[in-house]
Amino acid sequence: MSKSVEGTIASPGISIGKAYIYKGDNIIIPKYTIPKDRIDGEIERFDESLAKTKEDIKAIQIQIASSLSDDTADIFKSHLMVLEDPIFDQKVRDTIARENRNAEWVLNDISLELIQSLSSIEDEYLRERIVDISDISKRMINNLQKSDMISLADLEEEVIVIASDLTPSDTAIMNRKYVLAFVTDRGGRTSHTAIMARAMEIPALVGTISSTSMIQDGDMVIVDAVHGKVIINPSKDEITEFRKYQEDLKELELELSKITELPSHTLDNENIFIYGNIEIPEEMSIIKDHGAQGIGLFRSEFLFMDRHLPDEEKQFEEYRRVVEFYNPLPVTIRTLDVGGDKIYAFTKHYKERNPFLGCRAIRFSLENEHLLRTQLRAILRVSSYGNVKLMFPMITTVEEIFKAKEILEDVKHQLDKEGISYDSEMPVGIMIEVPSAAINSDIFAKYVDFFSVGTNDLVQYLLAVDRISEKIAYLYNPLNLSVLRMLKRISQVAIENNVELSICGEMAGEPKYTMLLLGLGYRHLSMSSAFMYQIKRIIRAVTIEECENLVDELMIMENTYDIETKMLERVKEKFPNMIY
Ligand code: PEP
Ligand code: MG
Repeated sequence: MSKSVEGTIASPGISIGKAYIYKGDNIIIPKYTIPKDRIDGEIERFDESLAKTKEDIKAIQIQIASSLSDDTADIFKSHLMVLEDPIFDQKVRDTIARENRNAEWVLNDISLELIQSLSSIEDEYLRERIVDISDISKRMINNLQKSDMISLADLEEEVIVIASDLTPSDTAIMNRKYVLAFVTDRGGRTSHTAIMARAMEIPALVGTISSTSMIQDGDMVIVDAVHGKVIINPSKDEITEFRKYQEDLKELELELSKITELPSHTLDNENIFIYGNIEIPEEMSIIKDHGAQGIGLFRSEFLFMDRHLPDEEKQFEEYRRVVEFYNPLPVTIRTLDVGGDKIYAFTKHYKERNPFLGCRAIRFSLENEHLLRTQLRAILRVSSYGNVKLMFPMITTVEEIFKAKEILEDVKHQLDKEGISYDSEMPVGIMIEVPSAAINSDIFAKYVDFFSVGTNDLVQYLLAVDRISEKIAYLYNPLNLSVLRMLKRISQVAIENNVELSICGEMAGEPKYTMLLLGLGYRHLSMSSAFMYQIKRIIRAVTIEECENLVDELMIMENTYDIETKMLERVKEKFPNMIY
């Protein structure tokens, strides 16, 4: 038997290929003292890395200018400015000579000093330089250590990426043609990196803890994201067995895809709506091909991953692409949800002690009102091109609803004055993903047109369990009775107050929870494409009554383990051949 390592399935599937260990941002800074007689040599080493880094940046600039645009290539001008700054250069040399420390150590300290002093400056342009300095210093340290920094966008052969962790933006830039799968030591099922993997249909395992220490660059691996393990240097027989399995899964998928033609209702004729969650516009056609009846969650964050914030026109064009493609089906655009694990170039320097409890989502937008106004203008403008709904994330207080709606009204007035048309009836809704919003949902219902339940965060905040921590992943369980009670309360409030209700957390996209959610009163489910076919199959084979009976049976139990065991028993009894 070959060695293997276990992990949590972030995106299902099987992949077989060569491992590529991706270090990403995790560079190690060696720290040692230099004997007096070798100081000149150390300064020479620094000079060489400086020259090499300049060469690298110029090469990237030329490559980007030819493949993208001169504007994008200009980003690297500021990198060169840092490298050509004589004060910076001299300071590093002087410190190496004076303190007898190695170049990486000194370079890192001086960059950190610079970053710290820039963080307190009000000027936005200067603050943006923080990212440049941080990038440059990483690149130089890499050059000092002679290790190449390959971005996941630059891969040139098919690999399985193994990393300690990946950021959502690492995942977004991955060259999908070459990334067969990825495996990370850290992270949980609802981390945004896992969500991106499902969106891109790349098999992925997260939270493996030791894959980077057990797997070497170039090792052959099988990622079995059906049973949750990575097999390292498999035997020939294992490879043959898994290749066959891969083929079987493809056939099964093809067979299941025929279901898109059929209506989505239960045996007792209750219509159940299936929508898609999209993270990047490229997914819109995959999701439609899977039979989605619209977009229940359009995470607008992807537009903000770039170092340059998107202006109104850019946002308008991106939203329009999706809205027109789906017209007349609805597209729910969620305003920016940065913070938590979604840290982008423009927020990289806002360090917070507890990012998930910090300036995230609507809090960030209300603090940075100019960004919210630009986004609302773009969304309102696009509302006259199709069926658009607007959604605010992470609403915690009723005041946030008032404030966000007040800004929305103001933006509408502005557009009226400019004679720009928009849909004046555009529904406005909120995510219910914080316990206070669920508890006060009867009050919030008076002020919004719809609720969309974000179980990824709701579970995290209700159980006080970090959704991306692999250490306490065992506690992150949507079947905790408190979660079920909360989901039930939200659906009752929505029905009583005639507020449209959907659910867009990852729970909605997992077949094992479908009967439970139907039984809890949910009729609008929004999910990634990964399990859409299976979920529709379940919907068409059950009655609401049996789903409600299941809920009754589960909600008298106190213990999460018992609830889970009973639920899986019932679901597997009815659908024995599914992947759960
Ligand atoms: C959620 O929290 O369930 C949700 C859908 O939002 P996100 O995963 O983007 O935080
Ligand atoms: Mg959320």
